[in-house]
Amino acid sequence: MAAPLLSAPGRALLLALLLAMASGARGQIITRLPTEEKVVALSFDACEAFEPMHLDEALTGFLLERALPFTVFMGGRFARDNKDAVRALAAHPEVEIENHSWSHNADMRRLSDERVRNEVLWAGAEIRRDTGRRTRFFRFPAGVADERTVALVEAMGYRVVHWRYASGDPDPNLSVERLVRDALAQTRPGDILIFHINGRGVHTAEALPRIVDGLSARGYRFVRLDALLP
Ligand SMILES: [Zn+2]
Repeated sequence: MAAPLLSAPGRALLLALLLAMASGARGQIITRLPTEEKVVALSFDACEAFEPMHLDEALTGFLLERALPFTVFMGGRFARDNKDAVRALAAHPEVEIENHSWSHNADMRRLSDERVRNEVLWAGAEIRRDTGRRTRFFRFPAGVADERTVALVEAMGYRVVHWRYASGDPDPNLSVERLVRDALAQTRPGDILIFHINGRGVHTAEALPRIVDGLSARGYRFVRLDALLP
């Protein structure tokens, strides 16, 4: 019989690696969709930290009227404070609702393991109660995360989804023209675009129709995250 290719410790390491892969361990922040086709995901954050925030009606009106598929990363407090509007939004099959933490802590890297888990757990439970939907993607507040916090969230069965470039739509100095120009110039196949749908996007409702039309004219189509992310 041929000598084994790997020593015993080598085999143990390989086995551990294979087990980790099989259990879905990733340690990965997703920043784009796995495609080279002209497909983009429109994602919107509905954050709420301390002050109550509400859905941007002009923005949701446009998205729903055009029946565009889109994904909302919703805070637990936001869902709690906007139950009726959130329930109505979730009644539309083109709308995906995902988890954006309970309290929108500005730096979740500073929280204990238990606090990190509770941020995810409580938001997921609130969204489930209000909409009947189970969330499976998580976005860190302001995209601030590290290896430990990503691993904690993934161990709860979530995948972490951020973006490749941010629109910067809460910045009042970004004009409609600028938002449109940047989005059309920067968008690549598989991008996950990020805007705000809680009123923090100063010119988003004005800019988005032109962004959607501009991308459509360039051959792009729009999908929910769960259409392309396993
Ligand atoms: Zn946010």
